[in-house]
Amino acid sequence: MTAIPHQRPAAGAVTAASLTQAGDRPSGSCPECGSARVTALAMTLTDGTPVRFTSCHACEHRHWSHDGRDLEFSDVISRATKLKV
Ligand SMILES: [Zn+2]
Repeated sequence: MTAIPHQRPAAGAVTAASLTQAGDRPSGSCPECGSARVTALAMTLTDGTPVRFTSCHACEHRHWSHDGRDLEFSDVISRATKLKV
């Protein structure tokens, strides 16, 4: 005689797990190679400019954008290295 408890996991658990991926939409693709395997990070430059840093896993291209516009690398560096006197 088998007496194995046969409890089914709550159906809601699976649904909740799948919902955690909502909002994880890729911000775009790599402008260099077109790969969607990019990591986007929100960061703030030293002068207070909020930018989005995107790093490509395929070709390691990196770029920054602000307000939907691409930033030149030199522009980012000049802002990031601005020193408070
Ligand atoms: Zn790329």
